[in-house]
Amino acid sequence: MGAATHSRTHDHGHSHACRADPGTMVSRAETLCRARGVQFTALRREVLEAVAASERPPGAYDLAERLSRPGRRVAPVSVYRALDFLMELGLVHRIASRNAFVPCAHEHGAGENVVFLICRTCGGVDETTSPEVETSLGQTLARAGFTPAHSILEVEGDCGTCRRERAAGEA
Ligand SMILES: [Zn+2]
Ligand SMILES: [Zn+2]
Repeated sequence: MGAATHSRTHDHGHSHACRADPGTMVSRAETLCRARGVQFTALRREVLEAVAASERPPGAYDLAERLSRPGRRVAPVSVYRALDFLMELGLVHRIASRNAFVPCAHEHGAGENVVFLICRTCGGVDETTSPEVETSLGQTLARAGFTPAHSILEVEGDCGTCRRERAAGEA
């Protein structure tokens, strides 16, 4: 499929997406499923591969369309179910503001904060974690007497590449 090579030719500095090599993601999924005694079905595998190979975070409908072929229609609801499963394994995250999905190559610790940097120009999504945010958010939550199950922050703006390109265009 050649999708794994896109980081070389088309480097937007979105290191997270580029690190999620489909082959590596699939073998991680297989290991996790084996450890939990759950089945890594063909559809779950295909959905994971498609998310990992996507240049931009796909939505469930994009994925259903991409995985459907003549004689075999994949329903969005089946894709959603596979995505739920993959999210539970920590292999995929959902970008709530876009209702789109990104592969995750990190192995997050429990309760670790995830910060998504979403570029409104190129649509790229960078994933990062921030100890500073974690500390101050932790204090805020403690003050509010609130126990978080998980927390994901989404920040929309312009990535470094797009900002530089625009600056160059204006000069
Ligand atoms: Zn992640
Ligand atoms: Zn960008």
